[in-house]
Amino acid sequence: MPDLDALLAQVEASQGEIIALEQALVRIPSVNTGFMPTGDETPVCEYARGFLREDGIASEILESAPNRGNLIARLEGRSGKGGLLLMSHTDVVPVEEAGKWRFPPFSATIAEGRVFGRGASDCKGLLTAHLMALRILKRSGLRLRDSLILASGADEEHGGRYGFGWMAQHHPGKLAAPFAVNEGGGTTMSAAGGFTYVLGVGEKGRLQVEIDIKGASAHASTPWQGNNALYRAAQVVTRLEEYEAARDTSTSFFQHLSVFAVEDRASPENVDDLIGRVQRDNPRLASVMRALSRMTVTPTMVRGGIKSNSVPEVVRVTCDVRTLPHQSEEYLRGELDRALAGIPGVEYQVDYMSVPNASPFETEFARRIQRATARALGLPEVQMIPAISTGFTDSRFTRNLGIVTYGFTGSHPDDDPMLSFAHGTNESIGIKSLMNSTKIMVALAHDMLAEG
Ligand SMILES: [Zn+2]
Repeated sequence: MPDLDALLAQVEASQGEIIALEQALVRIPSVNTGFMPTGDETPVCEYARGFLREDGIASEILESAPNRGNLIARLEGRSGKGGLLLMSHTDVVPVEEAGKWRFPPFSATIAEGRVFGRGASDCKGLLTAHLMALRILKRSGLRLRDSLILASGADEEHGGRYGFGWMAQHHPGKLAAPFAVNEGGGTTMSAAGGFTYVLGVGEKGRLQVEIDIKGASAHASTPWQGNNALYRAAQVVTRLEEYEAARDTSTSFFQHLSVFAVEDRASPENVDDLIGRVQRDNPRLASVMRALSRMTVTPTMVRGGIKSNSVPEVVRVTCDVRTLPHQSEEYLRGELDRALAGIPGVEYQVDYMSVPNASPFETEFARRIQRATARALGLPEVQMIPAISTGFTDSRFTRNLGIVTYGFTGSHPDDDPMLSFAHGTNESIGIKSLMNSTKIMVALAHDMLAEG
């Protein structure tokens, strides 16, 4: 039986193969616009399937709609039960202005130790690490107690209805495992001892609020005969700008601030002071502290008016809202009622895009991830703190199935996460991160599943 050192050496020796796989995946433009027909994830699944077949690894493609494939592969363990689920997604967000990119967005060009391209970091890098981990484990002949499952979903970028949402509903048995790792964490932040890893334990909720502000129309040459909804809308926007959400330090992240040499206990009363103190030296930490200590209500779109010479009757202001795990829709409604009180003609409706969700942090699984990461980096130990992410991923579907799911891609500490530009222009991933991520997945599977 191969030991872990031999497996990690195998990853090291496979660098060329890892880069080539990442490039091949990036070159398949599985762009998800959100409007059907879109996504075209099946060709990515087919490529991955061909890759796995070279080593005789079983996989299947489950299509939720034409050309919207979801990939599931398994390294079978003796028990036949799932032990660990490796999650990623195959779709990518559209490219806004290809001309602004340094390299064509689907060229997967290598420069400065990075692979550039749409999807390079979100999320084909993680899929690459998972596929390579399966290959290396299979080739090693390692015997597994429980099965290692790889699942790569379609449609993550538009809510997962054709991907993990669909699989969780129609094929939950194929995802069944007690533990899963996914995107949504696993980058590093600078901290007191050098750096700390961020483990994604949960996600803020996302709601969309449509505020309709009504007035009365009139000809714009005699505006006093109407009631201009835009003036009322201006009041609404001003109130939202002035709105101060209650401070909250109940998420587990705030119990680990000492990692960043912040020795004061965070409380709703002092959290803004603490943020102010770390802002200069660690702006990323300040931003995380800000996001995790309050609900945000952000006006993002405005629509109204039908003609340049008519006083508008209705204006709609759309807001993006991010709630903390324990904040309900009722809480949001109470806050909005208070913030908008007294402005006439205002009505709003709330739509849930994603319910806030979380897995516990103090688990043996979290410690195993920490250990696997230290092994991958060849360090005696690494620091890790739990965080709730501001965006959302497919993890909410597997958490709903009772699977403890952590966001952990395992990027390399030398690889500044600000350089990855996920969803942005010049998206890229550091080759060091591709390597580190593959090593972590191999070490984690070895630790959790190897027959002893
Ligand atoms: Zn993603």
